[in-house]
Amino acid sequence: MTKIIKVDPENYTDNELFEAAGILRNGGLCAFPTETVYGLGAIYTDCEAVLNIFKAKGRPADNPLIVHICDFEQLYKLVKEVPETALNLAKHFWGGPLTIILPKSDCVPYEVTAGLDTVAVRFPSHPIATALIRETGIPIAAPSANLSGKPSPTAAEHVIADMKGKADIIIDGGNSFFGIESTVVDLSVKVPQVLRPGAVTIEDLRPVLGNIEYGSGASAPKSPGMKYKHYAPDAPVYIIEGDAVSIAERLADEKTGILTYNVAPENFKKGIVLDAGKNSYEYAAHMFYYLRKFDELGVTKILAVPPEEDNMGYSVRNRLYKSAGGKVICE
Ligand code: AMP
Ligand code: MG
Repeated sequence: MTKIIKVDPENYTDNELFEAAGILRNGGLCAFPTETVYGLGAIYTDCEAVLNIFKAKGRPADNPLIVHICDFEQLYKLVKEVPETALNLAKHFWGGPLTIILPKSDCVPYEVTAGLDTVAVRFPSHPIATALIRETGIPIAAPSANLSGKPSPTAAEHVIADMKGKADIIIDGGNSFFGIESTVVDLSVKVPQVLRPGAVTIEDLRPVLGNIEYGSGASAPKSPGMKYKHYAPDAPVYIIEGDAVSIAERLADEKTGILTYNVAPENFKKGIVLDAGKNSYEYAAHMFYYLRKFDELGVTKILAVPPEEDNMGYSVRNRLYKSAGGKVICE
């Protein structure tokens, strides 16, 4: 049985999270909202509960989880040491959509890190996420609350679709603000690396860290999650680069979903058109929700106009290309 509760992020009391915190402390699974996407959490110290997250998601056993904290003090217990660079990053970007990777302390079970000697830590900004961790009293290990391979959930309805009957409790806290997962920065290596782009961009990080580069790509991924099929709705996704209207004219039928951007929906003669928004931030906030919506509407393929490659656009394109499994149509 999965209990579903609604909590208003703008008007709630910690009391409303009492039951969810109790479930977590007793080894249960709780799906909760964050500013990036919804997470599926267990207390990081309970190995059995952590393994249940992998089962619920169908997550490959070598894909580690992120440990979510609600104050800086909790970081010190999770990692071997806190270098100056980490502290600087944390001061600038926490709470917020940035995950930091450091050598783990002995407190962190290998179930959480999927056997790695490093741990990923994030201090979210979402008031319900931080209140939940505070009420629980223990950091929460949590990946995104979707079935493995599906688009991450950015609204409770999509968490419910994937996790009803699997999570013990789901907290409906409305829509995620950013809509894509956190930026992952590896500080366990000599030159810091962005392993996953997100709302905190490499340009945001450079002034704080100085030297930073993108981590290696698909061949030998440092961030294990990056090598799997990801973010894919049931319908195949094709990225359309070039003249979107003429490509759609050629390829779209009534059962085609078109995710448009900067092209007015009325220009498309056929298909179900959803507008990704006015800029790459709006695109991020809509993307996963609309990819899932297309499946609900029964489309048989999705044509997606990508955003420009500006800061957030880079991160959105990273997700979109994975959703499409690299399928691009140019003309
Ligand atoms: P999710 O929260 O579902 O987006 O998954 C967490 C992401 O963080 C995955 O892409 C993981 O591979 C990555 N991650 C977690 N821990 C580590 C780590 N110790 N080293 C590298 N990447 C990690
Ligand atoms: Mg995920």
